[in-house]
Amino acid sequence: MNSTDIRLDITKIPKSRIDAVDFENLQFGKQHADHMMYCDFIDGEWQTPKIVPYGPMQFEPSAKVFHYGQAVFEGMKAFKDEEDKVWLFRPEQNFQRINKSSKRMAIPEFPESHFFASLEALLKLDKDWVRKGGGNSLYIRPFVIATESGVSASESDRYRFMIITCPAQAYYSKPIKVIFAQDYSRAADGGVGFAKAAGNYGAQFYPTKLAKEKGLDQIIWTDASSHEYLEEAGTMNIFFRVGDKLFTAPTNDRILDGVTRKSIIQLAKDKNVEVVVDKVSVKQIVEAAKSGELKEIFGTGTAAAIVRVEGFEHDDVYYDLPDIEEPYGTFFKKNLQDIQYNRVEDTHGWTR
Ligand code: PMP
Repeated sequence: MNSTDIRLDITKIPKSRIDAVDFENLQFGKQHADHMMYCDFIDGEWQTPKIVPYGPMQFEPSAKVFHYGQAVFEGMKAFKDEEDKVWLFRPEQNFQRINKSSKRMAIPEFPESHFFASLEALLKLDKDWVRKGGGNSLYIRPFVIATESGVSASESDRYRFMIITCPAQAYYSKPIKVIFAQDYSRAADGGVGFAKAAGNYGAQFYPTKLAKEKGLDQIIWTDASSHEYLEEAGTMNIFFRVGDKLFTAPTNDRILDGVTRKSIIQLAKDKNVEVVVDKVSVKQIVEAAKSGELKEIFGTGTAAAIVRVEGFEHDDVYYDLPDIEEPYGTFFKKNLQDIQYNRVEDTHGWTR
């Protein structure tokens, strides 16, 4: 079914809340646009998607999401160009990924037509919440939760798919200090690391809190069995520049297949920068840092696009990264954002 054939129930907000928002001082994720979408899975079927004013919802305390963590989510963005057109960046990737995450969590997949019809309707209603220029965007958070009531440990037979949005300015724009994980692990073989399952994030908060107490901002997770290979950050994939080459870990069942990651790999290829997609060892990076060959580390993700890492800690030693001229991170961030904001021709057909 085509997304234009989908019936939506739309209840508009009586009066927009937009005038009360200070767009110059947004705290990421704290403000929400006027509307949200929800769609229930009942009796084995996804019902008519509803668009309603953003606001609280009621769930039974025994709803399974609260007990068994059957919940997945996505993160994507809408950008506005100079002519006030709103663009999504590779949204089909997020759509496919939420269904991949859902499948792993025994959540029924959401129909593509429902997803795009409601997303487009939501963005039309809330287009004024997408600000143009700078790092402005509208962050889009689709998610699914298990809503059947009953504290028995089995998959739910009811779910709610929702989309909420938040106006955003540049996020994590400051360079960050990281630590390579040695004690805790984020994901295991055969586990759910590749999925955007809510529990993956909840489980990172405690080790990240410990890292913050040491003055570091984030953890670079390593493989759970040996802690010898660098995998990804909590909400970003990670790239290392050694000499003029970029290195990043291949995705697997422990690592999220990031949309920004795959876009940067492509943009690097377009620029004739060699990208080695292979296991990256802690040893290799520590040695490259000692010899001066390690030029950059940066994280990639929807929220922040690209974030520079200014140094890392490993085995209680902190390594500063050099302040180099023309870093790849800065170049590819601009390259990516020029496409996202429709400032250059999108030769890859990524925007919609
Ligand atoms: N890794 C993890 C664990 C993430 O949560 C994210 C954010 N979705 C990423 C990587 C980056 O993915 P993307 O570029 O698709 O935002």
